[in-house]
Amino acid sequence: MTEVDAIVAGAGLWGCAAARILAEKGRAVLVLERRPHVGGNVRCDTDPETGIELHAYGSHIFHTHIDRVWDFVRRFAEFNGYQHKVLARHAGKTYFLPLGLALVNQFYGLDMAPSELPAFIAAEAAKGFAGGRAPANFEEQAISSIGKPLYDAFIREYTRKQWGTDPCNLGADIVKRLPVRASYDINYFPDYRQGIPLAGYNSLFDRMLDHPKITVECNVDWAARRSEFPHGVPVFYSGPVDELFGYKFGPLPWRSLRFEQERMPLADFQGTSVVNYVDADVPYTRIHEFKHYHPENAAVMASRQTIVCREYPRAWKPGDEPYYPVDTAESRELLALYQAEAANVPNLVLGGRLGEYKYYDMDRSVDRAMEATSRF
Ligand SMILES: Cc1cc2nc3c(=O)[nH]c(=O)nc-3n(C[C@H](O)[C@H](O)[C@H](O)COP(=O)(O)OP(=O)(O)OC[C@H]3O[C@@H](n4cnc5c(N)ncnc54)[C@H](O)[C@@H]3O)c2cc1C
Repeated sequence: MTEVDAIVAGAGLWGCAAARILAEKGRAVLVLERRPHVGGNVRCDTDPETGIELHAYGSHIFHTHIDRVWDFVRRFAEFNGYQHKVLARHAGKTYFLPLGLALVNQFYGLDMAPSELPAFIAAEAAKGFAGGRAPANFEEQAISSIGKPLYDAFIREYTRKQWGTDPCNLGADIVKRLPVRASYDINYFPDYRQGIPLAGYNSLFDRMLDHPKITVECNVDWAARRSEFPHGVPVFYSGPVDELFGYKFGPLPWRSLRFEQERMPLADFQGTSVVNYVDADVPYTRIHEFKHYHPENAAVMASRQTIVCREYPRAWKPGDEPYYPVDTAESRELLALYQAEAANVPNLVLGGRLGEYKYYDMDRSVDRAMEATSRF
């Protein structure tokens, strides 16, 4: 590449989408990625023995209701139409999430019709939280939304594991109102456009970056190349914003995860892709069984082996992989300091989950990349 007129630092979904859009606008784009591969946390490995696609950073299901995002990603991948369902194991029984007629009827031993559910949940909520004041924390907010029995069974211990603290210590605004579906719709995501790339996620990224105006360099940290581009070339940065400024105000807090994979001599371990373990006596939050993401792949489905992955939430410290931003009043104040710092750097565009310090689903990551590149 003789000339660079946009740098993209970080080749996750946000960075790859930004690079492609800029290249199609005629910019010569240099993509720098510090990992040995592109794709960020959506990266997968393929098990050489079974052909199972292994999601290295936790299960990723593409789902969206954003037309322009769906049109964009389908230029680089054909999706298999997989529709995500999540089950929950509680007290030795298996339930269909999300909270809806299937789960509520099974849990209470009832046979309610859709029209009966809202009043039932409202009565349970009123029994659990008297009202007269706003809920003061996550627990009160959740109980005021679904009642205590459902909260105790499906939310309390899962939340405690996920965030590593009692839900009473979490802000009420984390949970908003918990929706309960008055139907037997057990589709986990409300988006009907859903699926996994037939050729795998890695191929989606390779095709997105396959453009004559894009050059990709892996194993390169932006910090190591920054001094080469002092003259106002726009930089689209999707690494951690606090790291970019040397943690000068202190690190932004994250929750991290540990994944433990196991190969099993079984055709099928749990009969579905994700089961949540919502009780306190199980240390992990979920088991992922990856072969179920490709029901169209007869060879993978017929394999006499399966690979599962247990997901353990854990505390984060600088150097660990950050997964979920911890949204508190303090972290918002800290973020504002870094954002003010970034605003003083000409031609710096912060994006992605690390750059914006915000959880985004994949479709929102693409949508945000479209927004970020629109004025260039
Ligand atoms: C456990 C988990 C499960 C999820 N499941 C789903 C799901 O099912 N469906 C869904 O829609 N979304 C899901 N998501 C969200 C999804 O992971 C994100 O939307 C997406 O990964 C965000 O992409 P990104 O580019 O912002 O970040 P990343 O994927 O983190 O990419 C950032 C890239 O920047 C690189 N980088 C960082 N700093 C530098 C630097 N200084 N120089 C060079 N490179 C750098 C990193 O190595 C990384 O490759 C999930 C998230 C988590 C945590």
